[in-house]
Amino acid sequence: MEEFRSDFVIRLSGIENGSHSYSIICDKRFFEENSMSEVIGGSVKVELIMHKNDKMLTLDFNFDGELEQECVRCLDPISTPLHFNQELIVKLVPDHSDYLGLEEDDIWVVSEYQYDLDLFHYIYESIALALPNQPKHATKEDGTSGCNPLFLEKLAQYSTEAQSDNDNATDPRWDALKNLKF
Ligand SMILES: [Zn+2]
Repeated sequence: MEEFRSDFVIRLSGIENGSHSYSIICDKRFFEENSMSEVIGGSVKVELIMHKNDKMLTLDFNFDGELEQECVRCLDPISTPLHFNQELIVKLVPDHSDYLGLEEDDIWVVSEYQYDLDLFHYIYESIALALPNQPKHATKEDGTSGCNPLFLEKLAQYSTEAQSDNDNATDPRWDALKNLKF
């Protein structure tokens, strides 16, 4: 697991100023590790370019891929393409403790002596935010549901049954009893 996590850790110590590029794959293992159980397939490739100078790192992320989740209605797989860019600024300071509490989601402050930068959770959060909370098959152009037709059929059947149950609010057996003459 250590080896897998190390894909998400960028070494800073001894790295020269200038641009450096990295490529990170987030696949099944990544989502399992993060207990993103709602992701059932697919992968996302993260292309990262880090611009480094003495005072600051600028990290340009490009997320590209497609992930599968279960449709909340019919439980069939539903694919969500993910294509987005994001920037993370990392300020390098002599004493990190001067900046406690001043960090933001996309502006970090780290010690200029820090050995490396762990992006595992940052990448996880970015992907989690980009995924739909309640994935649902979209309605088709003709206005019908894009969900699994078998499921829709069952649903229609079920609601008809529920409807007729409502119509016969009184139990037919009682009706039969009422008609008995003593
Ligand atoms: Zn569906």
